[in-house]
Amino acid sequence: MVTLENLFKFISSLQAVYSEKKLYLSELDSAIGDGDHGVNMARGFDAVVANWKANPPSNCEDAFKSISASLIKTVGGASGPLYGTMFRKMSLAVGKKTEFGLDEWIDGISKGIDGIMLIGKAQKGDKTMIDAWIPALEALKTAQNDRKTFAEALRECAVAAKNGAEATIPLIAKKGRASYLGERSIGHQDPGATSSAMMAAVAADTLI
Ligand code: ADP
Ligand code: MG
Repeated sequence: MVTLENLFKFISSLQAVYSEKKLYLSELDSAIGDGDHGVNMARGFDAVVANWKANPPSNCEDAFKSISASLIKTVGGASGPLYGTMFRKMSLAVGKKTEFGLDEWIDGISKGIDGIMLIGKAQKGDKTMIDAWIPALEALKTAQNDRKTFAEALRECAVAAKNGAEATIPLIAKKGRASYLGERSIGHQDPGATSSAMMAAVAADTLI
């Protein structure tokens, strides 16, 4: 079940994970980008938690809006507006509920991905965060069809996102800074797909 309490655990845990993995994510970005992705995500989730504490949301729509606004303001780069759009679309999908389950989570992620693809124009296989999110969504839908619990669905989603991120290694980047490298982007895991897979893993640990 997603509740405001669980969402706060989700963002607090993301703050800790991105702080811990800051160097790793920036190293991935150094190989095919400008080396700032870990720093961007750590700074972004510091702001997400600080803004939530300063102005605690009273429903899930406001919670996702708050996360979105903090990320757009502080992450910068390509990934800031993209993650910001994801959470903004989720806020609209979920509405003013104070708790919800798998159906709304799937609707939110699905609309979030549509938003990322609308502004970023990446397709599956372009070596971006989309390559983690699309298999993540497919896993959620499969789990829903199989009548799995929310916790099981989130675990399967996390595995699919991790596999999707790892599957970016042999791809040629078609969008974002990494695309400037053309074939030289082959052999490196996409940083944004990696931070997205981390997000799916944290969701499985905290939104249950
Ligand atoms: P920047 O590339 O501006 O330095 P970041 O380093 O924070 O921004 O984020 C890079 C990540 O953003 C990439 O690894 C990729 O996953 C994602 N990204 C970049 N452009 C796009 C796009 N057009 N669509 C989807 N994701 C993208
Ligand atoms: Mg970068």
